[in-house]
Amino acid sequence: MKSPPFEYVRARSVDEACELLSSHGEGAKLIAGGQSLVPMMAFRLLRPSWLIDINEIAALRFVDARPDTVRIGAATRQCVLAKDDALARRLPLMRQALAWVGHVQTRNRGTIGGSLVHADPSAELPLAAQVLGAEMTLRKKAARRAVAADRFFAGPMMTAIEPNECLEEIHWPVWREARVGSAFFEVSRRHGDFAIVGAAAQVAVDDSGRCTRAAFGIGGAGPAPLAFPKLAARLVGTSLDADAVQSVVHDAAAELEPGTDTHATAAYRRHLARVLAARVLRSAYETARSTS
Ligand SMILES: Cc1cc2nc3c(=O)[nH]c(=O)nc-3n(C[C@H](O)[C@H](O)[C@H](O)COP(=O)(O)OP(=O)(O)OC[C@H]3O[C@@H](n4cnc5c(N)ncnc54)[C@H](O)[C@@H]3O)c2cc1C
Repeated sequence: MKSPPFEYVRARSVDEACELLSSHGEGAKLIAGGQSLVPMMAFRLLRPSWLIDINEIAALRFVDARPDTVRIGAATRQCVLAKDDALARRLPLMRQALAWVGHVQTRNRGTIGGSLVHADPSAELPLAAQVLGAEMTLRKKAARRAVAADRFFAGPMMTAIEPNECLEEIHWPVWREARVGSAFFEVSRRHGDFAIVGAAAQVAVDDSGRCTRAAFGIGGAGPAPLAFPKLAARLVGTSLDADAVQSVVHDAAAELEPGTDTHATAAYRRHLARVLAARVLRSAYETARSTS
């Protein structure tokens, strides 16, 4: 199907994009890579009266990788992030997550901000943001507010962003420990499809191989991706042995609210969540342990 008619305007600055969002009201939408918005319009699931194009705003495209934090502009393309070696050294989980996001063609256009705001419950970047505790900077005219990932993702395709706000940048905390490993795995019907269930983890260990810090999360098994900081804390001091990991992933799976659809039953999703969470935790641990 074709999308319903709409008006189009190109914004040259974040100020102008915010001004246009306010003046055109709730019918207006920002368009970044268009990889989710355009299909939603073609299926007539969304009928924006105005599209405000943010692709020309250079201030929304940057990667600023510092020792303890990485700032990424919302309109930075996924392909740029996937190729950035300095970014991969500080946030290895980002490159691991991006490898599962769609296809080369969609990553060439798709932006990090578009993926986070679209907030598909199975999407990889929202899950990585939850696991690492990223923070979104939202802009409404001159006002800015910061929203942590655990308050940003509110449900399927729902976030804390207001209709006249623009996601400006995302802050990602960097783990400074010497031995850190991360992993991202998912199961989908074909590579490039949205995940049925995905899992991500990051683990730090000391010289003796004991876990000093852990984080993990699961996507596709509930209305929004979930991280489990309290359960991950139970792994600190262990060597992520089978009993410790199984106990934690069992409790994590019990907190999920998976649904049944044409791709998978709720029971299968819960099973996958347990298996994949254990796999990413063990893989992240082994990578951390082998880091010198
Ligand atoms: C064939 C195909 C396969 C795909 N597979 C996957 C997959 O496996 N995993 C996955 O995660 N995604 C997948 N996608 C979606 C893809 O990752 C998109 O790039 C992403 O979801 C949206 O990014 P975008 O820049 O294209 O945003 P757009 O489509 O332009 O926008 C998406 C939404 O975000 C809003 N928005 C965009 N930027 C901002 C901003 N700065 N501030 C406020 N609101 C904003 C828009 O108004 C819109 O509501 C797939 C897409 C296709 C076409």
